[in-house]
Amino acid sequence: MKKTLILGGGIGGIVAANALKKHMGASMQVTVVDRETNHYFASSFPLLMIGEKNPSTITRELKQLRRKKIEVLNSEVTKLDLPGHRVTTNQGDLYYDHLVISLGVEYHPEAVSGFSEFALNAYDLKDVIKINNRLNNFSSGQIVLFISSAPYKCPPAPYEIMFLLDQFFRSRRFRHKVKLTIVTPDYSPEPLAPPKVGQSVRKMLKEKGIELITEAKVLKVEKNVLILDHGTKIHADLLLGIAPHWTPEVLRDTDLVDSRGFVKVNPFTLETRYPSVYAIGDANAIRLPVMGAYAPKAGVFAHAQADVVARNIILSSRGLKPKYQYKGKGMCIMNTGFGRACYSSVHYYKKPRPFITLLRPTTLAYWAKVAFEKYWFIRSF
Ligand SMILES: Cc1cc2nc3c(=O)[nH]c(=O)nc-3n(C[C@H](O)[C@H](O)[C@H](O)COP(=O)(O)OP(=O)(O)OC[C@H]3O[C@@H](n4cnc5c(N)ncnc54)[C@H](O)[C@@H]3O)c2cc1C
Repeated sequence: MKKTLILGGGIGGIVAANALKKHMGASMQVTVVDRETNHYFASSFPLLMIGEKNPSTITRELKQLRRKKIEVLNSEVTKLDLPGHRVTTNQGDLYYDHLVISLGVEYHPEAVSGFSEFALNAYDLKDVIKINNRLNNFSSGQIVLFISSAPYKCPPAPYEIMFLLDQFFRSRRFRHKVKLTIVTPDYSPEPLAPPKVGQSVRKMLKEKGIELITEAKVLKVEKNVLILDHGTKIHADLLLGIAPHWTPEVLRDTDLVDSRGFVKVNPFTLETRYPSVYAIGDANAIRLPVMGAYAPKAGVFAHAQADVVARNIILSSRGLKPKYQYKGKGMCIMNTGFGRACYSSVHYYKKPRPFITLLRPTTLAYWAKVAFEKYWFIRSF
């Protein structure tokens, strides 16, 4: 029986495991290894922040996958011996015929001086719960959300958070007492998209009275103060940040990675330099063909990459030639508050530049995002 080992039970790992087990049944052993016992659906963190969700509704135990005969090992992956087809975990060694790496990225607030003491990480579940408590007791003052560095996952998410904060305070009727500011190192919101996408986001921010500060590198965080590289100091009563993202150390210790620690892959097959070893999702180093920047990192792309890899593993384990290719396509929905959302269509391999659209906010797009979360849990677990 062929063995496929999947490292990481996040979006990419769960999609790959389900696809393989569904098509291969008892003829393939599919094992998912994750250090967490639970899977958390990060797309819903912004709603959790404003109290429209609670942690239990966006969490599932990974061991539920066992009902589908997917093996689940709750363990830390500590070492990869790729020539030897061996993965070491803190519960022993595992061997594989095919390896799918979907270990995502980790947050490093300690890389920004003062972040851990004086700011909360808007991408981290524990801090998101704390932010919700702080918002419930916030009556006036300034809230600043800063993006520490690129690449950061789901580029529209910081703007979605701002729109939902605007909704939160407007619906409590004291929005006029709260100043909202977003600080980004990018020259514009959605910098990989054509300029009119960034302009649309700027327009929405302006209409909602949200201040935007671009091309700002955060040097330091102090109590109630954000210090930027152009000498600016911004006062904040509540500081929210997006901490720098790095791949897990177990990947950085291998010869798979580029200079920034992301796993180099064939952009169409997601295969690494080692045959039958694939890297999908946030941890890989796919770059845009023309602009050279890292391609956007988001669940929708991890999902599509997992599908391609699973289908190719199925073919090769049946002795057939892998033929499926990842196309760099996906769609994204950004909540803009009050039951509306913008639908965005993405084709980032398109030349001469990536194709990214952003439609006007509609209630239909909002309900599509609500429906997707339900679909995700029903389909995956
Ligand atoms: C606030 C927020 C909003 C978002 N909104 C959207 C959205 O609307 N749409 C969208 O498409 N994307 C969104 N994303 C991005 C999306 O969640 C990620 O891009 C996606 O989860 C990446 O999938 P992945 O499989 O690569 O990694 P992950 O889902 O992060 O999974 C990685 C897994 O690996 C495990 N792991 C890591 N290291 C080890 C180790 N050494 N040993 C064992 N286990 C390990 C982790 O515990 C984790 O479970 C959002 C993200 C955030 C934070």
